[in-house]
Amino acid sequence: MRHYKIEAFENLVNAFESLPTIGKKSAIRMAYHAVMVDGFAGMKLSHALETAINCIVKCTKCHNMSEDELCSILCRPLP
Ligand SMILES: [Zn+2]
Repeated sequence: MRHYKIEAFENLVNAFESLPTIGKKSAIRMAYHAVMVDGFAGMKLSHALETAINCIVKCTKCHNMSEDELCSILCRPLP
C-alpha cells in the first residue's frame, strides 16, 4: 500500500496530539471527524477555540480564568 501525506491533515493531527491526554489515535479520529465527517462542527470548534484564546485571560488578582482584568467570580465587586 502506498503512503502519501496530506500536509494540512497532518498539521491538524499534530495540533490535536499536542493537547494533554490526546494520543495519536484519538488525534487522528478527531481530525478526521472535524474535516471529513462534520465540517460544521470542525468550524465551530475552530471559532470557539480562537474566541476563547483571544478573550480569556488570568485575573490579575486571583489568577482564575476571566474575560476582564478582574474576574467576576471573586474579585470584581457586585454592582
Ligand atoms: Zn479574581
